[in-house]
Formats: sequence, structure tokens, C-alpha cells
Amino acid sequence: MAEYKKPTTEAEFAKNFHPKKPLMTDTEAYYESSRCLYCYDAPCINACPTGIDIPTFIRQINSDNKDGAAKTIYDSNWMGHACGNVCPTEELCEGACVYTNSDVKPIEIGRLQAHATEKVIRTKKKLFRTGKDTGKKVAVIGAGPAGISAACELRMLGHAVDVFEAKAKPSGLCVYGVAPYKLTNEQALDEIGYLQDQFGFNVHYNKPVSGRADFDKLEKDYDAIFIGIGLGTTSSLGIPGEDKQGVIGALEYVEELRTKHHKTPIGNNVIVLGGGNTAMDAASESCRMGAESVIIAYRRGPEEMGAYSFEFDLAKKSGAKALFNVTPVEIMGNGSVTGVKFIRNKAAYGKIEAIPGSEFVEICDMVLLGTGQGKQVELLEQVSGVKLEQKSRILDDRGRIVVNEHYQTNNPKYFAAGDAVNGGVEVVNAAAEAKKATHGIDQYLKK
Ligand SMILES: Cc1cc2nc3c(=O)[nH]c(=O)nc-3n(C[C@H](O)[C@H](O)[C@H](O)COP(=O)(O)OP(=O)(O)OC[C@H]3O[C@@H](n4cnc5c(N)ncnc54)[C@H](O)[C@@H]3O)c2cc1C
Ligand code: SF4
Repeated sequence: MAEYKKPTTEAEFAKNFHPKKPLMTDTEAYYESSRCLYCYDAPCINACPTGIDIPTFIRQINSDNKDGAAKTIYDSNWMGHACGNVCPTEELCEGACVYTNSDVKPIEIGRLQAHATEKVIRTKKKLFRTGKDTGKKVAVIGAGPAGISAACELRMLGHAVDVFEAKAKPSGLCVYGVAPYKLTNEQALDEIGYLQDQFGFNVHYNKPVSGRADFDKLEKDYDAIFIGIGLGTTSSLGIPGEDKQGVIGALEYVEELRTKHHKTPIGNNVIVLGGGNTAMDAASESCRMGAESVIIAYRRGPEEMGAYSFEFDLAKKSGAKALFNVTPVEIMGNGSVTGVKFIRNKAAYGKIEAIPGSEFVEICDMVLLGTGQGKQVELLEQVSGVKLEQKSRILDDRGRIVVNEHYQTNNPKYFAAGDAVNGGVEVVNAAAEAKKATHGIDQYLKK
């Protein structure tokens, strides 16, 4: 089990948050790319939501054509560098690599992708030209992976683009959510800077689109509007004591961590509530911040957790422990949190049932809620004609923007993609959907 000392300097923070997949050297990339079999009908391509031509870019790396490799990657995925670092490759391309059939380590596709794209970003290599000016203008709301991907593709198609971003920096959850041992702020921002240099779209920072008047103005000033606003803040659990000091949304904690690094306060005994990837990240990060004990508490068994098994394994290796089949019923404390009261559960006909009299208290001084993000329903209800998911049987679906196969909403002038549409998946899905949406916009503008 790893043991981390509380970081007190930037150098100690960097040591604890050492990259999970460090950049390859040229020699490493050469040898790793030599292992690729350049399969016909390569399963790794089919497993990538953006359909990157993986064998081609690996061959290009192998023949020392890294610029060509980066072009192959960006032709399919504008978040090529971020995805090389943050994609759950174990579940996608690398999980599908033919080597896994023979129990041989799959090709390290993510690290090769990061290697090729890092070089063009660092050297500011010009790889793309914008399309011939169409005279049309598109407003993009949100500068996250979906919004930035849409902006790049729209510029390739020759449309003028203005991006409106609520925060001071672009990149969305790549800067404010993803664990820093996967992608640093510099890596995320350098890629966006590179793309902005290639395509020259404007990003207006600290400009949230916040109500009906803003939407009306955009409708007047632009020919089409792309919504890439992601999700909202952490959902509450609805149990007594959630307002106590020391109870924080996991996402909000990660955002603070990504901004203040070692200056972010951490409890000595942390309980993370939830079984999804955000909960696992929050647990791994709490360990790296030097918490003495970190417990992940989930109401069902390990096999039912939404998190990828490799993320749970990482949290355990980082020092976290897990409590399964427990539901939090109250957050205890007097002003500040001192513990969480749980009740044990048993499975009954696919559902969970509380076991009467099984309550117990687990002591802690910090609770991180990994309970998922809410949707931005209040804001989206102000866009006339944009329909939101209402009657899904899956509670999590409520408030997602409803789109057709071209990612067009019920109001034909508005298109949407990314977390706001899919309910929260991965960066690569936001990039893939945004690209499709822009082709929908292009068709709409040509009509
Ligand atoms: C804690 C956490 C860890 C994650 N880790 C991973 C990972 O390791 N790998 C992975 O692939 N994915 C990961 N994800 C998921 C991934 O980050 C998202 O799927 C992806 O960022 C979605 O992109 P998006 O552009 O749709 O939304 P976002 O990234 O949320 O971007 C939305 C942007 O819109 C802006 N915005 C919001 N409202 C407004 C408004 N009203 N006006 C203007 N701008 C607005 C926001 O400030 C933001 O910049 C993680 C998510 C979380 C929460
Ligand atoms: S499946 Fe593996 S070996 Fe085959 S092309 Fe893809 S990365 Fe190369």
C-alpha cells in the first residue's frame, strides 16, 4: 500500500501526483510502435469512439513521422493529446488490441498518442488550414472538450466561431475535474492554445450564458448555436447533516485541488461516498494529499460499482479502503463533520434493503460526495423549444438535452453534445459527438 506524506510544496505535490502514464521518450516510442501488427480491420480503431486510424499513426511514429502521426490523430479527434493521457484505454483501444487475446501486454496506444501530439504542440507545428469562409457565424457555449472540438471542426468547415466560456480558463473538466496524475493544467491548456493558433476562433472568458436574454441575443447575432456546457455541481444526498463544515462535493474538491495544488486543505480521516469514477478519483487524490485514512463507502457490492475496476484498483493501491453494502443515513457533527452514520444493506430480489438495527458510525473529519453531477436544467429550460429528457426510468437521465442523430435539438437553430447530452461519459465521447454535431450544423447552414 502506498503511503503519501502531506505535500507542503509544489515539488512535493508534483511527486505525489506523478503522471500515471508518463510521456514516452523517442526510443521507447520507437520500440513500442515496432510491436504493432498493423492489423487489417483493426479492433483498436473500432473500440475508439472517435475512430482514430490507430495502426496508421503508430506506423507513422515508427517511421519517425511524428507530425504525420499527430495529423492522423487530430483528423479524427481534436482532443488527441488530452485523450492520449486521460482516456480509459484499458476499456477502449488497448482493451481491444489483439495482443490481449494471447495474454500479451497490449500496445500502449494512449502513451504513443500523447507522444506524437506533444511534439506538434511543443513545436507549434502548423498542420491545419481553415476552410473557405462561408459567411456564417456559429456561437459555441462552453470551452470544454465538446465546445473546443466543435469550434475546430466548424473552422475547418469555413464557419466563423465565437466561444463563450463561464470560467477564466478553457478545457472544462480537463482542467477542473480530471485527476492531475492523468493530465496537468499545462498539458490541457497547451493543447487548447495550439488548436486556437491553428484555427483562430475567439474564446470569450468569464462570459457565462446565463438566461433568456443571453440566448435571445445569441439567436439574433449567430446563424446557429452549439451547446457544450457539460453538467452542473455535485448532487446532494438529501440526508441530515450535509451542510456541516467538511462535507464537500467530490467534483468541487477536485476543482480546488487542481487550482491550489498542495495548498488545498485535506482531512485526516476522509470518507468518500459513491461507487463511480469520480468517487475513485477523489479517493486516490485524498490519499495523495496525505490523508491518514480514506474510506470509499458504497451502498451495493463491489461488482455493481459504476467505476472501472482499474480506477478502484488504483484507489486501493494509493491507500484507500472500501466499505460495501452501506447507506449513509446521517452526517454527524457539531458544526463540523465528525462522522457518518451508516446502515448496512442486504440484496433482495435485485434491490437493496436496509438491515434494521445495523446502524454504525464511522469517524471522519471530511466527507467527499461522489454522488454524481446534476444537470443544468434551470438554464436549459430558458432556451425556447429545447427539449430535455423528462420521463426516463433512469433517474440520472432527467435533464439531458434531447437531440436527433445530427445532435440537433428540438429548436433547429440549437445543436448540443458532450456531457450535457450523454449525461456524463468521457472526454473522447464529448469530442466524437461534437464533431458529428458540427456536421449537423453545416448541413443546417447550407439549407
Ligand atoms: C471528477 C471527474 C473526473 C473525470 N475523469 C475523466 C478521465 O479520467 N477521463 C475521461 O476521459 N473523462 C473523465 N471525466 C469526464 C470528462 O471530463 C467529461 O466527460 C468531459 O469533460 C465532457 O466535456 P464537455 O465539454 O461536455 O463538458 P465540460 O468538460 O464540463 O465543459 C463544459 C464547459 O462549459 C462551461 N460552461 C458551463 N455552463 C456554461 C454557461 N452557462 N455559459 C458558458 N460556459 C458554460 C464550463 O465552464 C466548461 O468549461 C471526468 C469527469 C469528472 C467529473
Ligand atoms: S489491435 Fe493492437 S496490434 Fe493490432 S493495429 Fe491495433 S494496436 Fe496494433
